[in-house]
Amino acid sequence: MLCPCQSGQWYNECCRPFHQGKAAPTAELLMRSRYSAYVLGDAAYLHRTWSKHTRPTLKSLMQSHSIQWLGLTIECTEQGGSDDQEGIVEFTARFSENHQEQALHEISRFVRENGRWVYLAGVHQ
Ligand SMILES: [Zn+2]
Repeated sequence: MLCPCQSGQWYNECCRPFHQGKAAPTAELLMRSRYSAYVLGDAAYLHRTWSKHTRPTLKSLMQSHSIQWLGLTIECTEQGGSDDQEGIVEFTARFSENHQEQALHEISRFVRENGRWVYLAGVHQ
């Protein structure tokens, strides 16, 4: 299947290796794989790629939501490369809730923990 992150690549060659344990090399790729995990309902992946300082409980992430994710657009990125320790990804995610289409525009901060990128926090625009 095509990857839920809408990269245009196959899931097997895009976000799946990250979901299976491979370290995402950049903050943007981690962001994409997290979006895919939301689409696929992979709460464990969301939990382990969330900073231990800010993450919600796994249980709360596993609660089902009535949201249907419709698409992801990466607006821009700052740092977050293979040699960086911090990164910022600005994105828009479209979703439908209660049959109403909405958009989430967020500037997300990513840091490395134990060498791996994790999501720290986001500011909604
Ligand atoms: Zn992907």
